[in-house]
Amino acid sequence: MNEREAPEGLAFLREIWGQEDSCEAATDRELPRWGTKAPACLTQIGTVLSFVDRMASCWWACDQGDHMIQYLCGRVESNARAALRLLRFGLYDESLLMCGSLGEIANLLQLFCVEKEAREQWTTLSEDKRKKEFSPVNVRIRIEQLGTSPLVAKDRYGLLSQMAAHVQPDTKPQSHNHAGVPSVGGFLQGEGALLCLNEIARPLSGAATFGAALLDLESEIKEQIYSAARDLVKTTGGVVVTELENLHQHIREGSLPN
Ligand SMILES: [Zn+2]
Repeated sequence: MNEREAPEGLAFLREIWGQEDSCEAATDRELPRWGTKAPACLTQIGTVLSFVDRMASCWWACDQGDHMIQYLCGRVESNARAALRLLRFGLYDESLLMCGSLGEIANLLQLFCVEKEAREQWTTLSEDKRKKEFSPVNVRIRIEQLGTSPLVAKDRYGLLSQMAAHVQPDTKPQSHNHAGVPSVGGFLQGEGALLCLNEIARPLSGAATFGAALLDLESEIKEQIYSAARDLVKTTGGVVVTELENLHQHIREGSLPN
């Protein structure tokens, strides 16, 4: 039996918030030292987020329209901000949950770009029909039927759902290490931090690109946004959900690729 008295009420909350604050400080101290890609990716996330912030708030010009795309950009920004904050608190599963949500919006914006009628349909369909026809899986299928790969494809979306969204019998919380050790979060796990960083970068770059394409912006501004989004893709590292199993295999065999 544990003789130590467990904190409850506000004392417990202060304890876990203290852990999260320590994890945030440790992440901010360590991440800039992890090679070249991770610090560059974090910096570039800041630049792309700044563009998305301006896209969401009619920074350059206001078209006096329904602001639907601007509002979606606003959601992209807040999802990405939450994902980053959760990453720094060591709440990696929840950060990945936000990445999945970001990916859904990125795919929807992509569909609006490749199928012009989709945007009109999305706004005019009844709620029941919209939920069905524009479910995440149907959005992906529609993009694929047009001969284009969705930004967040089935394998990535499935892995994110499996890791963060839907519990299953073998769910292990905050297990972001090759040994598969679970935890309750609030402490730095390098793999978790890199995974979240790279999984934020992908849908954020896509959402910025497709969002800019849909907004009525000067071509020079669009080019700046596309260029920033491309640079973000270039700084995205290899620790991503679709490569995680391979990475763990390499670590277990002691054959980590350079
Ligand atoms: Zn406006």
